[in-house]
Amino acid sequence: LLASAAGCSSSQNEEHKASAKARLITEDEKVYVGFILDTLQDERWYRDKELFETQVKELGAEVKTLAANGSTEVQISQAELLIAEGVDVLAVVPYDAEAAAEIVELAHKADVKVVSYDRLIKNADVDYYVSFDNEKVGELQASEIVKKKSKGKFAYIGGAETDNNAVLFRKGAMKVLQPLIDKGDIELVYDQYTEKWDPAVAERNMKKALKKEGNKITAVVAANDGTAGGVIKALSASGLAGTVPVSGQDAELEGVRRVYKEIQSMTVYKPIVTLAKNAAEVAVKAGRNENIATETSVHNGKADVPSILLEPIAVTKDNIQDTVVKDGYLDKKDITGE
Ligand code: BGC
Repeated sequence: LLASAAGCSSSQNEEHKASAKARLITEDEKVYVGFILDTLQDERWYRDKELFETQVKELGAEVKTLAANGSTEVQISQAELLIAEGVDVLAVVPYDAEAAAEIVELAHKADVKVVSYDRLIKNADVDYYVSFDNEKVGELQASEIVKKKSKGKFAYIGGAETDNNAVLFRKGAMKVLQPLIDKGDIELVYDQYTEKWDPAVAERNMKKALKKEGNKITAVVAANDGTAGGVIKALSASGLAGTVPVSGQDAELEGVRRVYKEIQSMTVYKPIVTLAKNAAEVAVKAGRNENIATETSVHNGKADVPSILLEPIAVTKDNIQDTVVKDGYLDKKDITGE
């Protein structure tokens, strides 16, 4: 009775010792997270890298990041390298949604968990998926364009077909466009994915579209700010920049500058800080074999992957201040040049 009154029965003592030991082990053996990116080409991925690394370290884990520069082979060998180095978990932005299934197999064989970061890996037993509502991104893009021009000849300049997000962006955009196409108000005269999301490819394709239609293109739904940049170059070579509405995504500085100057109609702001924070938490917990509660799941062709999907935000000239500037994502001075 005395011992327990002092808060320390002998069985409690044993428990204390055990939990102290568990603490020592986790302190000594920090969770090791591998972060593998498709590319660092688009501006956003630098932010993802910085923010994710910072968050993982704040959670007391270690992290190493590698980028595959648009190659499946490189990405798979980077995963192998990190697995050999003893990572507990891999956060993956797959270059190719289907081919990356091999990464999940390799990881699971080594008892390494896999978190799909921003882009979903298809047809594999992915452990977690942390991203945005990507269909919604496409809906926002097409909705803003349709507010500007709801009739005429439209072009769709998509992302890389190997990226599941690009497929979802197009699906979301078509939800808005299809009823208008069916009504005969909109004619989709050009519809093309963009290899590797390359702005130069988007520019070439937009030039083809303009040539095909004798420059008579009413509006363009472009999947991100990179491809929008290519589209706008092509438009400007025909003297059309600023008169043809163009969408974008990522709230890249150049994209938001164009929105400010009204040569791009909109961009989509996806708070990367929140993405990186959520993904880091999930990765570190998964690495510690802790359970993670998620509100939703996404079927990837093989499994229902427990998922966290964040909300994207449409940015037009009117709300630049209240979105990206207010959040500290971009500096007002950099946007306006004043
Ligand atoms: C991302 C976009 C990005 C694109 C090209 C997509 O998977 O969701 O934010 O612009 O890849 O890097």
